[in-house]
Amino acid sequence: MTEVKSSNVGYPRIGEKREWKKALEQFWSGKLNKETFLQQMEVIRLSSLEKQKQLGVDLIPVGDFTLYDHVLDTAVMFGLVPERFTYRGGKVDIETYFDIARGNKDAVAAEMTKWFNTNYHYIVPELNNLTPTLAENRPLAFYKEGKEKLEIDGKPVILGPITFVKLSKGYKESEFKSIVNQFVPLYAQILKELQQEGALWVQIDEPILATTLTEEDISLYQAVYQTLHQAAPQINIILQTYFESITYYEAVTSLPVQAIGLDFVHDAGQNLASLQKFGFPSDKVLAAGVIDGRNIWGAKLDNKLSLLEEITAIVPKDRLIIQPSSSLLHVPVTVKIEETLDHTLKTALAFADEKLQEIVVLTKGIREGKEQIQDEINERRTAIEALNQSSIRNNQQVQTAIQNLPSSLAEREAPYSVRQATQKTAFQLPLLPTTTIGSFPQTQEVRRNRLKWRKGELTATDYQTYIKTEIKKWIDIQEELGLDVFVHGEFERTDMVEYFGEKLAGFQFTKFGWVQSYGSRCVKPPLIYGDVSFEQPMTVAETVYAQSLTDHPVKGMLTGPITILNWSFVRDDIPRYEVANQIALALREEVEALEANGIRMIQVDEPAIREGLPLKQEKWEDYLNAAVYAFRLATTSVRNETQIHTHMCYSDFEDIISSIKALDADVISIETSRSHGELIHSFEESTYEQGIGLGVYDIHSPRVPQLDELTKNIDRALQVLDPQLFWINPDCGLKTRGMDETVAALTVMVQAAKLSREKL
Ligand code: GLN
Ligand code: ZN
Repeated sequence: MTEVKSSNVGYPRIGEKREWKKALEQFWSGKLNKETFLQQMEVIRLSSLEKQKQLGVDLIPVGDFTLYDHVLDTAVMFGLVPERFTYRGGKVDIETYFDIARGNKDAVAAEMTKWFNTNYHYIVPELNNLTPTLAENRPLAFYKEGKEKLEIDGKPVILGPITFVKLSKGYKESEFKSIVNQFVPLYAQILKELQQEGALWVQIDEPILATTLTEEDISLYQAVYQTLHQAAPQINIILQTYFESITYYEAVTSLPVQAIGLDFVHDAGQNLASLQKFGFPSDKVLAAGVIDGRNIWGAKLDNKLSLLEEITAIVPKDRLIIQPSSSLLHVPVTVKIEETLDHTLKTALAFADEKLQEIVVLTKGIREGKEQIQDEINERRTAIEALNQSSIRNNQQVQTAIQNLPSSLAEREAPYSVRQATQKTAFQLPLLPTTTIGSFPQTQEVRRNRLKWRKGELTATDYQTYIKTEIKKWIDIQEELGLDVFVHGEFERTDMVEYFGEKLAGFQFTKFGWVQSYGSRCVKPPLIYGDVSFEQPMTVAETVYAQSLTDHPVKGMLTGPITILNWSFVRDDIPRYEVANQIALALREEVEALEANGIRMIQVDEPAIREGLPLKQEKWEDYLNAAVYAFRLATTSVRNETQIHTHMCYSDFEDIISSIKALDADVISIETSRSHGELIHSFEESTYEQGIGLGVYDIHSPRVPQLDELTKNIDRALQVLDPQLFWINPDCGLKTRGMDETVAALTVMVQAAKLSREKL
């Protein structure tokens, strides 16, 4: 390299206005033929490349684009098609590709799981004795495309072999190394062909290096990358890591590759500390991720420049690449099209395109000197300062409350054993009480009415009246079903985070700020940009109305502080846990308002608690402590007889069970039907002694469960759990289900509960 370069690690796939999603869904529903679909995808792909070129990025990633998921792309590139789908070798056609992702009438889809600690989900490759082959040199095809169509000498992006196998399933731990070695010659072949075609830089992603690895894994890296380097010695391999710092800094930086990509944003400067402590090999290039690829805030360019200067004190600038900390897949495309956003907020934001601009500016600053970018530095600084000084970031009341928080955990008035007795008398519930998780089917009609109200075609009063008729309808249904504890049904909510975000101060919503969650599904996370505070009751009217219609207790239904935090873009000028506490204090006011209005059970959902776990296990404790602290802040000020419920969705709890206990909820309901009872044992072993509702049927499928399946699930749970503590409920909320199947399934559930009660 002769001078510092700017680079990108990966670009969003979905297009400025989700054109990608629309094309995919039209193709799936048969409204677009394959040819037109592929043409539309090409347009999106090429215009994204062209845009990066116009922005002045030196190393433009190619092959990061996908029709669904980049992990699935890697699997099919190696011909890894699970046996339940038809495959006769060669390049996998797109029909089969989508079948693996989505299932077809004969075969279930491959499993989907979270990509590290992000909200992106990938398709889990199934190795199951399949022999990988090079079905298609995908990076080569995209490299050629960029060169031929746009004269871009791109940087192919490939998911590395060790991370790929780590993320796959269908093999034994002991086979790990030999399986990786099956892939190595195929990767070598890809690189060889790229070298022949003239590619100079190739980014091989190995994000697994930021997790907890063993020494053995690291020595495998040594061998694998030695082979890859020898296969294509003229190619500069950038070994790319992201999301957190790397554990084995010295070993990783001495691997036989030409460049190492490190995240200098997350993990409190750990990579920088290692760089300063151990130095950097003099024959390598450092790809420094200095712009946050995971959030949407504009960067203070002068601070970033200082960070880069600290880096160039060790790595000379002709061996430096400046880039985002990770792929920009995790942020929306551009701020430019947000016409309705508050001006102060808008100018302080940076989505993918604006982040790339920042990178180009910083590269210029390093190349030509700080003076050359002074205007941009000033502009950014002014925008960020304006936001920092705005009244929404300076709510004295909130800040005083936060400063005065005690260091110890908030406590309920009495310990659980006392509350349990009080609540037993207060509620007079039967053994094995039945309930649901909160939402009932959101029919087309519910959504249509909400849209009309949002567009002003329906008055607020008419909309509220409509919601009330839905509530009444479902209170009657619950009465008829014979459930014990009722819910109002959440008809007024589109999304469990958005609903609260719209009512709390400190949030704003973009119009096009979508990011891919899985497949064509995108989410639009709210922006927590200011101090969060309670303005007025958010759920009291609906809950109190529901309660007025029945003698059964109706659970108030709130989303917990950690879930709101994890599913939003969070301001980065104050610590995350402080934002969590602000949300918690606001929710506490809602909890108190519900209680003051006669609501005796309140459920605070925390389905996303597990998602926010840091990649390295040694950091879990801090995160979990902060989560428990916030949850208790929100929920502990109620009287002993008020019953606090919580709900979580994910099924592997073994490792966080002590934190779940520490939430001190009176009742927790969790998904179990898909974990085949494994979860029950973790509760047994930890002697969990509070109320617990295990999901007895899977709500993700329209199928109505059979009575004996449910009885079996209940009996199995009762073998290890105290019947005094056990509740019966579905796995999760029912909002995606149809009305008839919901009523049918709940009928069976109530029946199963009755049968099990009789046996006690
Ligand atoms: N109360 C929410 C519902 O029923 C919970 C959703 C969730 O756990 N994801 O929809
Ligand atoms: Zn759930």
